[in-house]
Amino acid sequence: MLEMQAVKTLDLKMYINGEWTNSSDNKTREVFNPATGEVIAYAAEGTVEDARAAIAAAKEAFESGVWSDLPTVERAAYLLKIADKIDEKAEELAALETMNNGKPLREAGFDMGDAAACFRYYAGMITQPDGETYHVADPMQAMVVREPAGVCGLIVPWNFPMLMSVWKIAPALAAGNTVVFKPSEVTPVTPTKLIEIIEEAGVPKGVINMVHGAGPVVGNEIASHKDVDMVSFTGGTKTGKHIMKTAADTMKKVSLELGGKSPNIIFADADFEVAVDYALFGIYCGSGQVCSAGSRILVEESIYDKFIERFTERAKQIQVGNGADPETEMGPLVSQQHMEKVLSYIEIGKEEGARLLFGGERLTENGMDKGFFVAPTAFADTTQEMRIVQEEIFGPVVAIQKFKDEAEAIRLANDTDYGLAGAVFTIDGAKALRVIKKLRAGITWINSYHPTYNEAPWGGYKQSGIGRSLGTYGLDEFQEIKQININLEVEPVGWFKN
Ligand code: NAD
Repeated sequence: MLEMQAVKTLDLKMYINGEWTNSSDNKTREVFNPATGEVIAYAAEGTVEDARAAIAAAKEAFESGVWSDLPTVERAAYLLKIADKIDEKAEELAALETMNNGKPLREAGFDMGDAAACFRYYAGMITQPDGETYHVADPMQAMVVREPAGVCGLIVPWNFPMLMSVWKIAPALAAGNTVVFKPSEVTPVTPTKLIEIIEEAGVPKGVINMVHGAGPVVGNEIASHKDVDMVSFTGGTKTGKHIMKTAADTMKKVSLELGGKSPNIIFADADFEVAVDYALFGIYCGSGQVCSAGSRILVEESIYDKFIERFTERAKQIQVGNGADPETEMGPLVSQQHMEKVLSYIEIGKEEGARLLFGGERLTENGMDKGFFVAPTAFADTTQEMRIVQEEIFGPVVAIQKFKDEAEAIRLANDTDYGLAGAVFTIDGAKALRVIKKLRAGITWINSYHPTYNEAPWGGYKQSGIGRSLGTYGLDEFQEIKQININLEVEPVGWFKN
């Protein structure tokens, strides 16, 4: 922790056409450590002009073929080099992630491991055979090839600053695209370090460009500019809708990874301690600032009281504090503004008549008053029409409800506008699969919560998004599909007589 405090204030520039640059109007934005409230960095505050310069650089690099025409083994070699460099710097990167986002070091460490693995995964995938051929009716051979989408605009949130960047940059680069990347203005530290690593790995200038700054300025320019061929966005559903509308004017391909209000369904026959353990992990890991968080717990009536008792007992023991302290199990919220939003939802829950089981307040003891800490919080006896059941809070606040039978569990689970994730706990395998198959959600678990794999597609149903990250599907998002028809008998078509 002492080492963390000794880190100097960072100067975070943007990266456009292979140059580190200040904003065109020389403005900067303060970047905070949410555990201490201290300013840890000043980031260049990008302008529309900066976004346009980055888009022009990406377009020129794409058209030059410097990246898209490279043999895939060569592109893969760059990705492998980036992965190795992330591994070499993993400890430093994790410490910076903790300092900027607030997540405990242990969580940040996992993110760095996953980030390196994601680059390796796509390095492997891009060198695999792809494309198809078809025997068609005419003396013709039809084939299908995959091509890069072009200039990709990548816009990411603050909750996994490194990992969300990598989930987009790795497949976008693997597919041969050039990139204009906008990290969250709240957490630009590790994304900037990632771009330094990509530069060190020797990726040609113009292939990757990064512009810091506000969503409505830089993000909006990326989503609306005609020379951006596709936009891949992760963030809130409201912003996602705005991006989709903005992108419509230039008919961009969009990929949207949005919010959630995911149900965690616990049947009476589940292994009780395992279910309680994962329910805690599902909501309080990342201080609940995880898109797939199990923020609604649905418990079968016969074990409802017992569950609440044990869940409360365990939750009260969670060690909240500065994520840089190895003893810390749950860190702060990412910013003062976000903390205020979460606290306001807690007030809404009380006004709606939900039963506050524990927490429900800002934590200020042991120096936490300088940071943005909210206690692990749970409401019981919540009902479907409550806002705390319907809306994404994105904090350590869970709504617990009881259900009578399988049919009611499914009905309650699906009764929100979201459809990102969900889990079922039961020892009855057939029941588990029946319920999971009825869940309108893209990411699901049986007797588990949260694990994510590079191999498996990540994304939501309903208002949780469009498209998928990771896996082969994650590469598809960054590719166009072209059919090529080859005439095997080169003779006039003879349609017109003369
Ligand atoms: P946000 O929507 O406020 O911001 C996300 C990004 O969009 C930021 O870079 C922001 O600057 C930019 N942005 C904001 N307004 C914009 C605009 N008008 N045009 C273009 N870009 C704009 O989200 P956040 O608060 O940073 O992140 C939290 C949200 O992200 C939660 O809703 C969470 O569920 C979601 N999320 C989803 C996933 C997923 O995989 N589905 C993963 C992580 C986070």
